[in-house]
Parts: sequence; structure tokens; C-alpha cells
Amino acid sequence: MSELKVKIGLECHCQMTSLKTKLFCRCPADYRGKPPNTNVCPTCLGLPGSLPYLNRRAVEEAIKVALALNCKINRRMVFYRKNYFYPDLSKNFQISQYDYPLAVDGYVTINVGGVDKVVRIKRIHIEEDPGRIVYKGSIESSPYTLVDYNRMGVALLEVVTEPDMETPSEAKAFLQELRSILEHLEVSDGSLEGSMRCDANISIEGGSRVEIKNITSFKEVERALSYEIIRQRNLLRRGVQVKRETRHWDEVRRVTVALRAKEEEMDYRYFPEPDLVPIEITDEMIERIKAQLPELPAARRVRLVKQYGLTEYEARVLTSDKHLADFFEKLALIHGNPKVDCNLVINELLRLLNEKNIGVRDLKFTPLEVSELLRMVDDGTISWKSAKYVLRRMVETGEHPRMIVETEGIRRIAKVEEIEKYVDMVFERCREDVEEALKDPKVIHRLVGEVLKETKMLADPKITFQVVSKRIEKLKTIRKWGEVPP
Ligand SMILES: [Zn+2]
Repeated sequence: MSELKVKIGLECHCQMTSLKTKLFCRCPADYRGKPPNTNVCPTCLGLPGSLPYLNRRAVEEAIKVALALNCKINRRMVFYRKNYFYPDLSKNFQISQYDYPLAVDGYVTINVGGVDKVVRIKRIHIEEDPGRIVYKGSIESSPYTLVDYNRMGVALLEVVTEPDMETPSEAKAFLQELRSILEHLEVSDGSLEGSMRCDANISIEGGSRVEIKNITSFKEVERALSYEIIRQRNLLRRGVQVKRETRHWDEVRRVTVALRAKEEEMDYRYFPEPDLVPIEITDEMIERIKAQLPELPAARRVRLVKQYGLTEYEARVLTSDKHLADFFEKLALIHGNPKVDCNLVINELLRLLNEKNIGVRDLKFTPLEVSELLRMVDDGTISWKSAKYVLRRMVETGEHPRMIVETEGIRRIAKVEEIEKYVDMVFERCREDVEEALKDPKVIHRLVGEVLKETKMLADPKITFQVVSKRIEKLKTIRKWGEVPP
């Protein structure tokens, strides 16, 4: 059976973490780590008599994003009340946008497996974040529900795509590119917990559209979509219609579950927010913001290739995370060997970060320390292999590379005299191998291996090979002539 076409659209909610205050009041936007329900005021709680006032910076930041995503910006922006009842929304409505969003009709180019693809952006709008519901354990088994309103009123940017993606990896690539763009614009820090969340719409040719809510990371997006594609395919294969519904992604059990019908058929009864006037966005404002746009990931990739001689692929990996690209550029500036520096950052450092599930900014060292590590490779103090080990220890302990090399005794052995001492020991111990090596040159490698083992792999393999070969040649001559030639 031929695979039916999959259509995926995303709705991404990005917190504007660069803002100091919330969207409609002066409560600090940084609510993380504060005791529950302390980061609130009458306005964000929606108490009677309180009035919202719009954070101007939020509009400017959103315009930056709209421009970066190639959108058309509406000159007139109106806020609406989206009415619904939910415990995390003490006002019973959320101030959002409806008919007149900030921007429409943009696009982002993503690249999956070397192929470029355009994902259209349907709309971008500004809204306030609701509070946070805290369950004990899983949503289904929690005996009670707690609500923390600290987050309520934080400015969110909602980016909605057309259903242009066809695989979970394309969806992930889109989110990565979006996150990188937001980070380059310094609008949102994607590494903060909960700062980027998304809902996904997914349908398979011939089936209805299913919405998956509550996906919190790129990894989870891929997992949730893969699960959902299999689920829908299995239904279609058995001739069962896919129901149009909203499902919840259960990260713990790694399945999507149908939400109760009440939440599926919500009617939001949008109406214009009477306490906020429509906002006029002028050409001057747009031009001023356009002039201040920083270098974006696409332009940075082109520059990285040109300036450092990197491959497209390398540039793409680096710019997938602004902080990773920043780290590389600082390292290349200090150490000055971009090819080697890039290799270390994307092949070694990135692998360690993924393995430990941490971000570049969680590292307890800077590019300066990494440049010192690479200098030790350059001057022959340690081997490349040891450098990889030292980097791992640096990630784990934050210790200085010279310190690690000193305390762990992993200085590379490259002096011929020093290696000869180990060769003496091995030739004494492995007499049979030496005899064989005199007849069969291939056995020399076995002896080299023994020497390396003896030095705990610290001896330079090339120099060791030379020393061992020379020693065998010398023995052959002695056997033949009965004496050492002058
Ligand atoms: Zn407030």
C-alpha cells in the first residue's frame, strides 16, 4: 500500500522572554523560581476595576519577528477577548488577537537532509500567557490540581504555519529554525523551560485533522507526531475513520490521549477587548525596526561558510542554536583554526551536550578554556584522542583543561627516548612476537599495539611504529651479520 500524504501544521507559542514586564501590567515578566502566586497584581489576575495597558516593547519585538519571518504587517491591530473557562485563567478570558492579527502571509525556509523547503506562515499574533496548572504526577492520576498564576499575563507570540510540513523531522526543523531566529533577534530564549510550546495539527490524506496539545520540546514534537502518524495510519488501514478531535501528548507514557469532549467543542465567543484601543502601526515604526534587525541565521550561515571556509552542513548545525554559533565564533577568534574549532564544537561538544541534555550556556567553561585545550593538541602535549577525553571531563566538572591533563597524567608521550623504554619492556616480554615480526612485517603492528597498551595509549602511535620498526630492522641486521652496523 502506498503511503498516504501527511500534512502537519504548527502553532507555536513563544514567550517574549526579553521583556522586563508582562503584556498588560508592570509585574515582572521573569516569573521563574518565584513562590507560587506572588508575581501577580489586580490587572493580570483580572480583578474588578483593573485596566490593562499595553506593553509597547512587546509590539516592537513582535514586529521584529514578523519582519524576520517575511510577513505582511497589518497597520491596524486589535485585541480581542477569547472567552473560555479554565482554572489557569482567573479572568475567564484571555486577551488575544482574532480578525486583525499583527502579521500574516510570511514564510521560513527549512532544510532537511540537504533539501530546502518553504514553510508558509499563516499569521503571527500577540496574546497573554495563562497561568500554570500543576498536577501531582500525571494529568490523569493526580488526586488534586494546583494553580500558579505567576505566569499569567506574560507576553506570548503565537506563530501559526500552514500545513506545509510532511514529516516529523520537518516539523522539528521548522521549530529549530524558528527558535534560532527568535534567539538571534533576542526576543525569546528558547532554552528557558516552557518558553516555547507548541500545538500540532496533523492529518493523513483522506482522514480528519487531529490537534495535539501540550508539546513542550523539539524532541517531544518528533515523538508525538510519529506516534500520531502511526495511530492514524493504523485506523485508516482498518477502514476506521479518523475522528476530528483534540488530543493531549502524554510525555510520560509517550502516547496521545483524547481529551474530554467538553474541551474539544469549545466556543471562544471572541469579542473586541473594550479596555484597549486599536493600535495603529505606522510605516515609520516598521522602517525604524527594519533598520535595526540583526544578522539572522540564514545570513549567518552564508557568512560562516565564506568567512571560515565551513561547509553548508557545518554552518547549518552551528546556527541551529545561536549560542552554539556564538561559542564557535569566539573560539575561532581566539584559537584561529576554524576547521579544527568547528570540528570540536559540532562533533565533540555538541554530542556531549546532547548526551548530558544540557545547553551551551550551562557549560562551566568558556571558549577561552577550549582554546587552551586545543593549544595543548597543537604543541603536542596531548593527543587529539586525549583532548576529547579532557573535553568530556571539562563538561562534567568545569575544571581547567591543564588541570585535568596534570592530575590525570594524560600527557602524550612523543619523545623517542621515552618510547624506547617501553619498547624495551615489550620486546623483553613478547619474545615470540618479536621472532615472528622478524619474518612477517605485519606482526610489527601487534608489537606497536603492545607498546601503546603499556603506555595506557598515551604514546604517539606513529612515533611508536617508527621506533618498533627500526628496532626490528636492527635485530634483522644483527641476525644476518652477527654485529651492529656502525
Ligand atoms: Zn500584573
